[in-house]
Amino acid sequence: SLTRGGMEEETGASILSKSLKLQGVNYMFGIVGIPVFEIASAAQAAGIKYVGMRNEQAASYAASLIGYLTGRPAVCLVVSGPGLVHALAGLSNAKENCWPMLVVGGSCEEDQEGMGAFQELPQVEASRPYCKYAARPNSVERIPFYVEKAVRMSIYGRPGPCYLDMASNLISNKSMREKIRSIPFCPLPPKPFANRDQLKEAIDLLCYAERPLVIVGKGAAYSGAEGEINRLVTDCKLPFLPTPMGKGVISDASPYNVSSARSRALQEADVILLLGARLNWILHFGFPPRFSPTVKLIQVDICAEEIGNNIHPTVALVGDVDAVTYQINEELATKPGKFIFNSNSPWWARLFEKVKQNLEATKGLTQDQSIPMNYYVALNEIQQLLPKDCILVSEGSNTMDISRTMLHSYLPRHRLDAGTFGTMGVGLGFVTAAALWCQDYAPTKRVVAVQGDSAFGFSGMEVETICRYKLPVIIIILNNNGIFFGIDEESFKSIPAKDLPLRAPSTSLLPNSHYEKIMEAFGGKGYFVTTPSELHDSLQMALQDIHNPALINVVIDPAAQKKPQDFTWLTSSKL
Ligand code: ADP
Repeated sequence: SLTRGGMEEETGASILSKSLKLQGVNYMFGIVGIPVFEIASAAQAAGIKYVGMRNEQAASYAASLIGYLTGRPAVCLVVSGPGLVHALAGLSNAKENCWPMLVVGGSCEEDQEGMGAFQELPQVEASRPYCKYAARPNSVERIPFYVEKAVRMSIYGRPGPCYLDMASNLISNKSMREKIRSIPFCPLPPKPFANRDQLKEAIDLLCYAERPLVIVGKGAAYSGAEGEINRLVTDCKLPFLPTPMGKGVISDASPYNVSSARSRALQEADVILLLGARLNWILHFGFPPRFSPTVKLIQVDICAEEIGNNIHPTVALVGDVDAVTYQINEELATKPGKFIFNSNSPWWARLFEKVKQNLEATKGLTQDQSIPMNYYVALNEIQQLLPKDCILVSEGSNTMDISRTMLHSYLPRHRLDAGTFGTMGVGLGFVTAAALWCQDYAPTKRVVAVQGDSAFGFSGMEVETICRYKLPVIIIILNNNGIFFGIDEESFKSIPAKDLPLRAPSTSLLPNSHYEKIMEAFGGKGYFVTTPSELHDSLQMALQDIHNPALINVVIDPAAQKKPQDFTWLTSSKL
């Protein structure tokens, strides 16, 4: 703060940063430039950790992950125009994932608006479709009001991102301290309970079910419902199915996990309790043939507008998953013995039969001795070594799909992927944020990204960020020379250079690229591995080194495929 005539004055950048800190914002990811330099340094002065990244996309993914892990938003700080355009990637991803975050964008001087100012863009309008709230503070004095509102909007109701536009004159203008309207801390939102009548209907339906199924989504993970959902599933012996990011709310190792019988469980369940998951493409819209046409659905969601989307539920429980599951547990406790689902029932027998069949099919693939390895062999090696409590990011089409079954999650909010929006390239942003968070709250926890070579490429230069901040993340690239699949080096070399644009498959990337050298370039440890034992040894070494980042580049057979599926993952053509 500065003084003028004895009166204390403060810049917009400083007021903004102090307000953010007061509202519980502890992390800021971004790229500085005109006009936001001052915001980054004011944020550091206010005690907010600032991480300078190499592209706003990765910075925006990083900020959104903090929202998911902590329930309070982090900031993505961007410059005007192109900076904000790049951050729309993370804004839209956070919106689709229902994760809180706050983008703060610098913009041109208010009195140059419309004149063709440097990097001028209608930023509030550009962000609005992806935001719950997008606004431009209209005076330095009112900045605290906008900050509190943006933070509150991002975490109350269905969580989501918000945008604040900071005109450059507002960033550097000063205001007398006593004129600044201070706004108190916004507490976490209350957890609403479901309506009593509907709760009773839901209990009746559950008690009537012959083939019940619980589906656990990332809304359940976000709400911290792991205690209540574990109690429900274990006490009642209910089969459950996690969605990709619902994995770990209940440990994958639970005997009630029927992921290995996913298709059968979805197809044959007669009552489904849907906990914080949308019936979107990830759950095949709730439609036959993936679901029974007569399935009765109990839908639990905090967002009333989500109820009935694609399928009308038999019972709707609008509320917080944690609070509503508590209600369900308390109601069921008043009916001792009445709803303990029998593990000798025909339903469990059918599910177990399929679990066994599918595990056998996968076993064959993990025992394949060929070099280059297939995905199953590589992931099997990785699964043997990964610490159970690590935060895992998994992305890239084959890598993500296959690791969903091969890599197990034991803790909630520990598995991250391309999410609802199917955004490939989130990995390095996510591991940067996760590692930073671990430094503060879980220093012994490891952060690992298992990515395809294509997914890595979207934000590869963030390796420099990771090395600069000494974040001991482990990046494992399952490198099959392409997007979905590639071609081998010999075939690629046989194409004359001038013919490449016509003849190189659109899916191919440069075969056998040495991505590990990117890590070495910035002082981290790189490994190039071609056999299961090399993979084992390098991952073990990377895990032992708790101070330095590592990148393990794993050569995968470019023709390696997924095991045959009963249904393909994306079913839109079959609707
Ligand atoms: P998944 O990808 O795991 O299927 P989705 O992202 O599709 O999950 O769905 C998450 C749902 O959870 C959203 O509809 C969102 O409104 C809801 N949700 C988010 N937070 C909560 C909460 N605290 N309680 C209940 N529902 C929540």
